Amino acid sequence: MLFTNATIITMNPTRDIIGDGALAIQDNRIVAIDKTSVVRARYPDEEVIDVRGKLIIPGLIDTHVHVAQALIRGCADDMALIQWLCERVWVLQGNFTHDDGYVSARLCIAEMLRSGTTTFLESMLAHRYGFDGIARAVEESGIRGCLAGIVMDIGTYATQANAMHPGMIESRETSLLGVLDMHSKWQDAANDRIHVWFGPRTPGGVTSELYREMSDLAHERNMGITMHLAEVEADKSYLNEKYGLTPVDYAESVGLLGPRTVLVHMVWLTPPEIDKLAATGTHVSHNPSSNSKLASGVCKVPLMLERGVNVALGCDGGPSNNDYDMIREMKLAAIIHKAVTNDPLIVPAETVLEMATINGARAMGLEHEIGSLEVGKKADLVVIDLERLHTTPSINPVSTPRAFPPRRGMPCVCRVACHALGPPRSPPPLYCLPTSRPLCLHHIAPV
Ligand SMILES: [Zn+2]
Repeated sequence: MLFTNATIITMNPTRDIIGDGALAIQDNRIVAIDKTSVVRARYPDEEVIDVRGKLIIPGLIDTHVHVAQALIRGCADDMALIQWLCERVWVLQGNFTHDDGYVSARLCIAEMLRSGTTTFLESMLAHRYGFDGIARAVEESGIRGCLAGIVMDIGTYATQANAMHPGMIESRETSLLGVLDMHSKWQDAANDRIHVWFGPRTPGGVTSELYREMSDLAHERNMGITMHLAEVEADKSYLNEKYGLTPVDYAESVGLLGPRTVLVHMVWLTPPEIDKLAATGTHVSHNPSSNSKLASGVCKVPLMLERGVNVALGCDGGPSNNDYDMIREMKLAAIIHKAVTNDPLIVPAETVLEMATINGARAMGLEHEIGSLEVGKKADLVVIDLERLHTTPSINPVSTPRAFPPRRGMPCVCRVACHALGPPRSPPPLYCLPTSRPLCLHHIAPV
C-alpha cells in the first residue's frame, strides 16, 4: 500500500520533512519513504491512496491514560485533587464492574484513535475494571497499548487515612501477583500490540517493601513501571514528613528510577531531583491539561529538557482532562510554558511534536518500532486533513496539527493507520474525502 503526494513529517533523527512525499507499507511496516515519484517508480503495482494536500505524521503516543475513566468524564469539575479523588472518582470507580471497564476502554480508545493516538500507556488498572476485557478492547480496536496493572497494599492517599473507597482497595496478592498473571497471559499479545506493566499507586498507597519487591520483579522480567509522583504539594510534604526525602529521592530509595520507569506529572520537583531523573534515564509524562484543571501547578518542562530528561506527553483521564485528545494536549504543552516564563521561544512546536511522538516511544521502550516514520518501523501513522477553516493557510506544517480540532464532532484526522490492525494491508478507516488543493510549502525542507 502506498500513501502518496503528502507532506510527511518523519521525526527521524535528522527531522526530515518531505514535500510531495510517499510512504510504502508492506504487512505492518514501512518499506520506503521518499518523494512520491521515487516511491511510485519502485512499487508500480502497489495499491495507491492519494493523500494530496494532507499531512502525514507519526501516530501520536499518549503516555498517561486512565481508560476506565472515560465513562466518568466530567463527574468532578472545579474541585481540588484530593477531594476530587476521594469524594467523586474513587467512589464511582469503586463500584465499577468488568463490563463498565470494557465499555469505558472502548469509548476511550475510539476517542484516542479519532484524534490521532495510535499508542497509549494505561497508568493503573484496578482488578475490578477487568484486565482481560480491557486487553480485549485493545485487541479488537487495532490500537497499541501498554497496560499497567495497579500495585498497592494500603488504602490511604498521602496523609489522608482511609481515603480510598473500599471497592478500590487491593492487597499485595490481588494487585502485584495479579499483574504477574496478566503479564504471563497478555504480554506481546494481539500481534505484539499489548504489553503489561506495573502501575503502582503513589507513595502512601504502597509500602516501601512492596515497591522494592515490584522493582526487583520489573528488573527480572524487563517490565515497565509507571507511577504518579509529585503531582501536588501534599505528595512532597508527605514524603518529607514520613521519610525526610524528596519525591525523587524516595523513588530512588525503593528502586523506582531507571530507563524502564515513566513517572507522571512531576510538578513539585527541585533542580537536583530533575538532574537525578536525567542521570538515571527516568522518563517523565507531562500532563498540562490535568495539572491545569486540578490546579496542581506547572511542571518545569523547560528545565527538564535543558537538563536532558526525556519528557513525553499524556492526557490523563476523563475527570481530570475531560478528553483523550493528544492534539489538544500538544497545543497546551506548547503555550503554557510560554505564559509561565514570559519567553515566547520556550518549548517550540517541534519540541512538542517530539514529546508526542519519538519521546513517547522512547519512554515506553518502543523507539526501535514506533515514534517516527522510518524504513523498518511499524506503520503507525496519522493523515491530517489540511482542508479545514481552522488550518487554512497551513504555513508551518509542524505547527498546524496544534490547531486541531476546533470542536467536537468535526473529524480532522482523516486516517489513523495502525497497521497491525486487522489483516495485513487492509485499508484503515477513512473519515474525510481527499482534496486537491496544494499545501503551502513555505517551511518545508527539501530531502
Ligand atoms: Zn493519572
